Amino acid sequence: METRHEDIKSFKDLINEVQNKGICGKCGGCVAFCSAGELNALGLDRDGTPVFVDEERCLKCGICYLICPQIKALNHELKQKFGWKPPIGIYRSIASARATSRAIRKVATDGGVVTALLTYALKKHLIQGAVVLKKIGAFSRQPVIATNPSELIDAAGSHYEESLHLDEVGRKYTTFAPTVREVRNLKARNFERMAIVGTPCQIYTIRKMQLLSVVPADSVSLTIGLFCMENFSFSAKAKTKIERKLKIKIRDIEKINIKDDVILRTEQGATIHLPFSAVDGIARPACLVCPDFANDFADISCGGLGSPDGYTTAVIRTGLGEKIYNGARQARVIEELRGKSKEETKIRRSEAMAKIVSFTRRKKERARQGLERIAHA
Ligand SMILES: Cc1cc2nc3c(=O)[nH]c(=O)nc-3n(C[C@H](O)[C@H](O)[C@H](O)COP(=O)(O)OP(=O)(O)OC[C@H]3O[C@@H](n4cnc5c(N)ncnc54)[C@H](O)[C@@H]3O)c2cc1C
Ligand code: SF4
Ligand code: SF4
Ligand code: SF4
Repeated sequence: METRHEDIKSFKDLINEVQNKGICGKCGGCVAFCSAGELNALGLDRDGTPVFVDEERCLKCGICYLICPQIKALNHELKQKFGWKPPIGIYRSIASARATSRAIRKVATDGGVVTALLTYALKKHLIQGAVVLKKIGAFSRQPVIATNPSELIDAAGSHYEESLHLDEVGRKYTTFAPTVREVRNLKARNFERMAIVGTPCQIYTIRKMQLLSVVPADSVSLTIGLFCMENFSFSAKAKTKIERKLKIKIRDIEKINIKDDVILRTEQGATIHLPFSAVDGIARPACLVCPDFANDFADISCGGLGSPDGYTTAVIRTGLGEKIYNGARQARVIEELRGKSKEETKIRRSEAMAKIVSFTRRKKERARQGLERIAHA
């Protein structure tokens, strides 16, 4: 059946179905890739929420609607394209690994596999660079296009964003960074083979853009996905409350990691483990309805879950992912953690996969309940 122009959903529907339900993740994708971008149809308000600047300029093309991570209208097509299988999508292998470079491991969140794979792919000219997050101040990070190994290493680790300053009333502190917006800048620089590192919602948007041939998503040839249970967002008032409860200053947090629970490491060397229930209240509403933990559509998905400290769990999904992962391993850019026997290695890998599947189920169930609550509100 032919789609009539009046049936195409547009930004107005995003307002109804996403913003008004309180589940906009403020990724900025709808604004960055609006077909009427040059006409300034959309913009971001002071707290990062997308708004109509001039509704008359909207072309009603439906792109913003379809690429929004909260809209599942293209799920069927995407799953077909990737041969998705339950419960976590396709994959060829799983391993615990780490970078052989001490310089990378020193700054990485887990084993530095993400950064090591990117540096390997860059050196082999498999990519021209990667969209990652750059440190621009003690707590400020911004998405950037890194085109050399030192820029990639600068971007290693977990990042929090304070571009929305806490001291301004009503603004929020967030651990989410708007990586997808940076993809727009690939076009001006004529890149053809780029990588992107992102959370499942970000990779999902990139994959939908590729499905719809939205330029310049075709320049993204390698996607490295991060596992993701949730991101946090809180006000200055909540920050004070958290600091009192945890007896630490947020600015002293050097590293935040999520594995079986939330792990905070302070500059003073303390490690604090928090159960998910302790931080549920500051999880972003968008995250509470998000079903993807293992970054199902990435070429390689990486997380700390399932590996001991200092190692990254890598789920190698596609042929390209396998080529880069195996190449990096053979070139000794990464090294795998192996058991004393083949059998032990196999058991460890099965245990890691079981954890990923269990977190995936937990996250899907949380999303189901969250959506149900919204539907009955
Ligand atoms: C917000 C967030 C939530 C996570 N949740 C979980 C979880 O629940 N369970 C789990 O096992 N693992 C989770 N991870 C993944 C884990 O923290 C590590 O990033 C992963 O294991 C890779 O470690 P590494 O040492 O190999 O990466 P590194 O070599 O340190 O490289 C990390 C890369 O990720 C990029 N990056 C950092 N922060 C962000 C961000 N906010 N958005 C996009 N890109 C970013 C960096 O620029 C860098 O390129 C999460 C990561 C993030 C960023
Ligand atoms: S022009 Fe297209 S992408 Fe832009 S707001 Fe309208 S429907 Fe959305
Ligand atoms: S989640 Fe992202 S794409 Fe969807 S409405 Fe919010 S900012 Fe736009
Ligand atoms: S939980 Fe989902 S929406 Fe939230 S940052 Fe992670 S992938 Fe994105």
